Amino acid sequence: MGEKPELYPCIRCGRMPDEKDRYCIDCGAPVQNRCSDEPGILRKGCTFVNPPTAAYCAKCGEPTIYQLNGLIHPMYPGGNKPAFLNFN
Ligand SMILES: [Zn+2]
Ligand SMILES: [Zn+2]
Repeated sequence: MGEKPELYPCIRCGRMPDEKDRYCIDCGAPVQNRCSDEPGILRKGCTFVNPPTAAYCAKCGEPTIYQLNGLIHPMYPGGNKPAFLNFN
């Protein structure tokens, strides 16, 4: 479907990345705010690409790499298992 990831200016320095860039060439920040749940030997991983403002993955609730790298600060640290999910 020709779906390509949306590009945003660098979270740290504001530089606009090229389409193929994985890291900002000026400051080294990751271009995409991916889920920190990377694929491993026993895990499928999530690797969902979130909007640059997301502190937690929209798909699985794990912290995003922007949060882990200290590039954004969550309003609710450690809040990836919120109690409101239990209400139904
Ligand atoms: Zn940058
Ligand atoms: Zn995820």
